[in-house]
Amino acid sequence: MIQRIFLLSVLLLLVGTAAFAQTGSAEPKNDIHYWVNQWSRPPIIVFGPDEEAFYQNIKIVLFSYDDYDEPSNPSALASKEIANPTVFTSQFIHAQTACEAEMLGKTGAREIFSGKAYDVLAEIARAYDRAIPHIYIFAGSPNMAYIAASIAVDGRGKILVGQQALEVFDTISLKGFLGHEMAHLVSDTAAQQCNDYVLRDPQMEADADALAARTLGKRPVEAFLERVLALTEGQNWDARRRLEMLQ
Ligand SMILES: [Zn+2]
Repeated sequence: MIQRIFLLSVLLLLVGTAAFAQTGSAEPKNDIHYWVNQWSRPPIIVFGPDEEAFYQNIKIVLFSYDDYDEPSNPSALASKEIANPTVFTSQFIHAQTACEAEMLGKTGAREIFSGKAYDVLAEIARAYDRAIPHIYIFAGSPNMAYIAASIAVDGRGKILVGQQALEVFDTISLKGFLGHEMAHLVSDTAAQQCNDYVLRDPQMEADADALAARTLGKRPVEAFLERVLALTEGQNWDARRRLEMLQ
């Protein structure tokens, strides 16, 4: 008798589980569209910014149908992974977001979604196999900057471009300049944050030039540095030295 009761309760338990599993939409198991839709939706963030940062760092590795040994996009991990994956605390994300908002507000920068700089950056992002970073234009400067650690916030990163840069750099040198900033973006490990004033050390600059040259070809990077030299009437020793290192 005791055994019978036991079996009955197991049976009920199974029925209960089965009933539970079937709540929700009716029988989506074989519906391909349902699952395509399900997995293409952004994950619901339950545990806050840390979880969101985790998802942003996930890379999709593809395998062909019958071959699980060789991914068809082996570069996905190598080229997109942040070199030293950092666990970003919610405190870090909040501080960084606030700092970025303040910086963008102060410079009066506005995000652009079309135009010469956007088109060039889109082409560069493709060459780097990355999403197009957010690009902001601010008035009265021929300079550009990548906002340190901005890649950690949204997975795309933010590049600031002075309005004058669009006037004084032609398309090919603009490509070299943006390609240099993009090199900072892809090698950013978020060791420095948005409000850390970073005087780029010469090696870091040379590395960024080299990475840009490898990714885009040498010509745009040369054109960029030559243009900087011309604009400063040959007085920019940093550009001169970097140009020599590129040879
Ligand atoms: Zn730089």
